[in-house]
Amino acid sequence: MTTVSADPTNQNSITPERRIIVADTLGYCWGVRRALDIIEEAASPENRVAPIGDIIHNPQVVQRLRGQGVEGAPDLDAAEREGFKRVAITAHGYGPQLTEAAKTRGLEMIDTTCPLVTKVQRLAQKLVRQGYFLVVYGDDYHPEVRGVLNWANTGKSVAAKKIEQLPWNAKRGEEGEGKISPPRKVALVSQTTKNIDELMVFANKLQAMVVPNGGEFRLCNTICEPTTERQEALKRLVDEVDVILAIGGKKSSNTARLADVGNARGVPSYHIESEAEIQPGWLEGATTVGVTAGASTPDDVIEEVVAYLAETYGFTPPEGGIRPVDPDYVPAF
Ligand code: SF4
Repeated sequence: MTTVSADPTNQNSITPERRIIVADTLGYCWGVRRALDIIEEAASPENRVAPIGDIIHNPQVVQRLRGQGVEGAPDLDAAEREGFKRVAITAHGYGPQLTEAAKTRGLEMIDTTCPLVTKVQRLAQKLVRQGYFLVVYGDDYHPEVRGVLNWANTGKSVAAKKIEQLPWNAKRGEEGEGKISPPRKVALVSQTTKNIDELMVFANKLQAMVVPNGGEFRLCNTICEPTTERQEALKRLVDEVDVILAIGGKKSSNTARLADVGNARGVPSYHIESEAEIQPGWLEGATTVGVTAGASTPDDVIEEVVAYLAETYGFTPPEGGIRPVDPDYVPAF
């Protein structure tokens, strides 16, 4: 689409319209909305709640919740020192020891673990009972991954994102100096917010290590439906845009994966927390900007980025706003 330039000295020149296309699925996921509803219902400035860790990987929301009596603490000691009598498990989940420790200290526990994360925790336990060595595809420092490993409660488990992080370096049955081959039964689950394409690359390599000589490999795709939907919506967008902005807190794994999806398809994609990080050079020569947002990014943060692109760079915002929110949407379990 083209429009006549607004430049009064150049009335007849035609310039392409600069516009914003928003992914058809983006921002808050069902699990984060649910966790925020639970915590906001439970807390007040007089009756404060301390989520252990970040309730949400979004600094703007963390700031807003502080005013409502919700303030994160790194651990139970810190929560007690700050005088909290009530603590919470975030949507990412936590190992069972946290609930037991809170009980011992007489602290009330509010559990906002996303049911889709609970499903992975239960699955991990089941796989371990069935004799599998458990591999969790994900970031070993992430609270969700640590929680899943804690629920599995076994030495026969590991978190890894690269094959080199596994405790084996050879195929089953391969022998020789320095060769360590995997056990007979290995199961793979994923952090819920990972990228399906990257999971499959990892899974294929792991399978090739495990299955020779009678090995058994089981892949359980536990990437959650809302994460997959955001990635698929972005894939539908990439052919139409020159640059992609993925909005979300810097610690948000699923926002980082969205930027990865764009970059992997050849569209320069930037993970930003707010409009303040947008650099003019990114938009040079771009006529269409794609906007997406991670599962913990609230609508007003997305709207601020869209408004900034319109006001500062003259991009036309999408008709009808950033998205229709379906309050009744519940993902498949
Ligand atoms: S990203 Fe998925 S698993 Fe995580 S809170 Fe949202 S719905 Fe739940």
